[in-house]
Amino acid sequence: MCDLDTKDEVKQIDVIVVGAGLAGLTATYLLKMKGFNVRVVEADSKIGGRIKTVVEDRRIYELGATWVFDHNTTLRTLLKKLNIKLYNQFVEGLGLYEIDKANRPHGFDTKQVSGGTPYYKIKGGSAQIVQKLFQLIGEDFVKLGTKIKAIESKHEHIKVISEKGEKFKARYVIVTVPPRLLETSISFHPILPSEKVAVMRSTHTWMAESIKFTIHFTQDFWRNKGLAGMIVSGVGTIMEVQDHSSPEDGTYALLGFLREDAITLSLKEREKIVVEDLVRILGEEASDYIAYKDATWADAPLTSSVSVNRGLTIHQYNGHDVLVRPEMNGKLLFAGAETSKINPGYMEGAVLSAFRVVKEIEKASKN
Ligand SMILES: Cc1cc2nc3c(=O)[nH]c(=O)nc-3n(C[C@H](O)[C@H](O)[C@H](O)COP(=O)(O)OP(=O)(O)OC[C@H]3O[C@@H](n4cnc5c(N)ncnc54)[C@H](O)[C@@H]3O)c2cc1C
Repeated sequence: MCDLDTKDEVKQIDVIVVGAGLAGLTATYLLKMKGFNVRVVEADSKIGGRIKTVVEDRRIYELGATWVFDHNTTLRTLLKKLNIKLYNQFVEGLGLYEIDKANRPHGFDTKQVSGGTPYYKIKGGSAQIVQKLFQLIGEDFVKLGTKIKAIESKHEHIKVISEKGEKFKARYVIVTVPPRLLETSISFHPILPSEKVAVMRSTHTWMAESIKFTIHFTQDFWRNKGLAGMIVSGVGTIMEVQDHSSPEDGTYALLGFLREDAITLSLKEREKIVVEDLVRILGEEASDYIAYKDATWADAPLTSSVSVNRGLTIHQYNGHDVLVRPEMNGKLLFAGAETSKINPGYMEGAVLSAFRVVKEIEKASKN
């Protein structure tokens, strides 16, 4: 139970972080380590934001962030510190590329996709990272089910107000909500500069329109056929698929992305079409699956804006100087994956943004 309640109106704290995704939890953890009195407010009933791992019967369904890359050096250092292990993405064997449904898909060398560089997944699922951070922060410091609707600058402090009318005050507030959503969902008093609003409105949110699925089988039958489980289809409802098996845990799965327009289908319809696509491409064995799950991120109102990314180019304005500029006399700071200039939109970008705002707060609080 979070101790952040209206008594904090009186007992001012140092920092309130809005959003318990990777950026928010990393910033909170770092600030706590440095001795700041910090709390997180999260609209959802759970932590994680765009990191969404479902575990059922030891089977891992990765429905949000999945891959870690060699160049994600800050993220990898954090994972090491949290004692979280990585394992290589399986890419042995041929990939399959489907250009029409009437003919057999073409085989391709999977190294064409990664240039031969290994890339990794998080052992036990991506949610390990947010769960470990949450444990280290302590549940008393994270207030779930608290959707912030307004942020007000007062003389010496800054106030956040929830939809339920709760008011909390602090010396600094860090917002980690994706900028395009932030602009439409939280009001600021005084209002933010118009150039900031324009940039926020035009900032691309990574993966906001994606549909990610995981399907579990009794066997990794594709590996027995010399296939990597990597599929690229230009004509199916599935667009991209990769192996998600963990033979040492006795689980065999594929995960990937569906076409955006599959959001108009029901979950049952999407499941049926994914199985049909996999049977056509990999063989009849694909019909013998254990369970299917997916996440449609375009209708996730706490990470996607209403019009998603319509009209924007990929990573547009991510890390823009105007986006990251503190406001309200330095009391309001902006973090989140989209505010990073390096690896924007990715977990690495989220972690880097947390390090940046923590540094900004440290510097400001010394003055
Ligand atoms: C399908 C998918 C696949 C991905 N694959 C990869 C990958 O393979 N590798 C990789 O590095 N990255 C990947 N990403 C991106 C990665 O998930 C993000 O970079 C990272 O999780 C973003 O963290 P964040 O904290 O910046 O934002 P978010 O995770 O979006 O967190 C923002 C938080 O703010 C909360 N919030 C929103 N509004 C309010 C409000 N008004 N009041 C309070 N709280 C609020 C939200 O509920 C959320 O918890 C993927 C993302 C998706 C969706």
